Amino acid sequence: MDALRRARALLHDADRVVVLTGAGISAESGVPTFRGPEGLWRRHRPEELATPEAFRRDPCLVWEWYAWRRSIVAGCAPNDGHRALARLALLDRPRTTLVTQNVDGLHHRAAVEVAGPDAGRALPLEVHGAIHRDRCSRCGARTPAVAEVSTSSPEALPRCHCGGLLRPDVVWFGEALDAEVLGAAFEAAAEASVCLVVGTSALVYPAASIPEITLGAGGVVIEVNTDATPLTPWASVSLRGTATSLVPALAEAPSSG
Ligand code: NAD
Ligand code: ZN
Repeated sequence: MDALRRARALLHDADRVVVLTGAGISAESGVPTFRGPEGLWRRHRPEELATPEAFRRDPCLVWEWYAWRRSIVAGCAPNDGHRALARLALLDRPRTTLVTQNVDGLHHRAAVEVAGPDAGRALPLEVHGAIHRDRCSRCGARTPAVAEVSTSSPEALPRCHCGGLLRPDVVWFGEALDAEVLGAAFEAAAEASVCLVVGTSALVYPAASIPEITLGAGGVVIEVNTDATPLTPWASVSLRGTATSLVPALAEAPSSG
């Protein structure tokens, strides 16, 4: 049996599935990954900008970078990989939980595209937050993203009604993840007999522990990635190729070929 058919059978024989996605699934929608050649912005590495220290040191620079990333995401649309995962999550069996490290909102948009008002079950757990929301760096209040961010000076940056500086509602390197969202993702990982990992280098913890939890509970991992990752040796099936070509083929029911 070839690898794709084996993976498809594993996925559809499972009662519960957890899916973990990373920047690779959105790469073909035009959202650059952090580690790919387009990850750099004005010669800054994302690891230098996506930190609380960077925001304290130079909030205008960090906001400029997010304004640029927001403009990229606004010009992008979900792809066949996002849509196939939304359809999978709408099935009764396997019962599927989508967990994403992406902040771009494309899984959410795909779910709404595919299922309209019934999108609920196909909405992902966004463990690293969402780029289209703001959060107060002082009181934590969440608000929809400010439409136009003026970055000319710290005084011009958007502020909360409490006076605190607003920031994008994403989790930065060195910050804790939302305990409730992460807890739900870990629970889904422990209950799943299959963890499907798509387009992530599987390096950033604690999200990277999701496949480890499924493995530890006796489940298996299926990986979709253009390259080998630290997770590859642990995967029962590792499919090498793009998310848009492989995920739709994998998610469709085995009887369809
Ligand atoms: P990453 O950049 O470290 O890894 C991307 C992975 O995707 C790589 O392993 C690469 O081989 C693979 N890949 C690239 N193109 C692919 C394709 N077309 N099909 C399948 N696989 C492909 O990203 P990461 O592992 O998600 O971790 C980086 C962190 O950066 C995460 O926390 C994430 O939240 C954040 N991030 C998010 C976005 C986004 O929201 N779209 C973009 C960049 C980074
Ligand atoms: Zn506030």
